[in-house]
Amino acid sequence: MKKKDIIVIGAGPVGLFTVFEAGLLGLNCVLIDNLDKPGGQCAELYPEKPIYDIPGVPFQTGQEHVDALLKQIEPFDYELFLSQRVDSLSEINDGDERFWEVVTTENEKFISKNIFIAAGAGSFEARRPPNIEDPDKFINNGVTYAVRSIAQYKDKNIFIFGGGDSALDWTVELSKVAKSVSLVHRRDAFRGAQHTEEMMRDLVKKGDVNLLTPYLIDSIIGEQKVTEVTLKNFETNEINSYEADELIFLFGLNKKLGPILEWDIELSGKKITVNTENFQTNKEGIFAVGDINDYPGKLDLILSGFHETTLAVQEAYKRIHPGERVPFGYTTSNSKLQEKLGVKK
Ligand SMILES: Cc1cc2nc3c(=O)[nH]c(=O)nc-3n(C[C@H](O)[C@H](O)[C@H](O)COP(=O)(O)OP(=O)(O)OC[C@H]3O[C@@H](n4cnc5c(N)ncnc54)[C@H](O)[C@@H]3O)c2cc1C
Repeated sequence: MKKKDIIVIGAGPVGLFTVFEAGLLGLNCVLIDNLDKPGGQCAELYPEKPIYDIPGVPFQTGQEHVDALLKQIEPFDYELFLSQRVDSLSEINDGDERFWEVVTTENEKFISKNIFIAAGAGSFEARRPPNIEDPDKFINNGVTYAVRSIAQYKDKNIFIFGGGDSALDWTVELSKVAKSVSLVHRRDAFRGAQHTEEMMRDLVKKGDVNLLTPYLIDSIIGEQKVTEVTLKNFETNEINSYEADELIFLFGLNKKLGPILEWDIELSGKKITVNTENFQTNKEGIFAVGDINDYPGKLDLILSGFHETTLAVQEAYKRIHPGERVPFGYTTSNSKLQEKLGVKK
């Protein structure tokens, strides 16, 4: 069992930035994530999409943002445990002191006075096409639920399924590299940004994108790899088959709070209620930061999560060093940090 200053559940951008703020105050962290890589939604859902609203950074893709955060926390004391979900959270006594204990699905155990739930939308899972039995049989062999690398789609026959922003964005982007792109949706109306829809429809007019509405998937054909797909016309019930290399299903995510529901923490719908002074939940020492929390005026933005966790770390410090003033200093004059970074004066 490892004792840490802060246990962070979720290694999305907000969890990663927690390490930075904790490090400035000399606190160590452990980060646990059920995904196989750090970065949360940025790395899993939109690694190659540009983010424009990180202050002072005019443009950064999701993955570049994660890489920058990982670089930023390099000087600090933290450990990262991946591919395991935090399943249980309980209060324990250690001598005279009260601690929180977390146990993961890989049976790793940690204790700490401070738990930061930075679990975003909870453990998330891409929605599968409802009428196809075991589409995951072809996973990464022609079936995916997120675009990880544009290069993978070069000169391929691609079918994108969905009617939201992701489906529209990737139709436009991948039409630049693919052999052919077909956008398949059950109706000829889209929920995404109007501007992107217009771009998609222009590409259809130019013959660079095939728009297949009102269609839905009927079957996936292939041995080891996808070679064909059959689609059903919603109006005529006619079924046609098409040569296909890659099927990208962008039906959104099922957000599952999962174990968090069992931790007896006050919820507001599917989010965790916090006070905005220190982002603590109704349980002392349990904080909720980033997309997972809710309070009046909450915005699910990365920069909001950065603010929240900065204040929460201050409270965590007070819980570890009761009665002490939380040291405050600008990073511009933090000589210890500059030393670690090898900054020459
Ligand atoms: C397509 C898209 C575009 C976006 N564009 C922008 C943008 O331009 N600007 C912006 O500010 N925001 C944008 N966002 C929103 C932004 O990505 C989120 O606000 C941000 O990722 C929230 O960070 P987080 O760390 O709170 O949570 P997340 O990024 O969701 O990370 C949470 C992590 O916690 C893990 N987790 C959950 N439960 C457990 C558990 N029990 N055990 C272990 N791990 C667990 C999950 O696996 C996940 O990795 C966008 C989102 C999407 C989907």
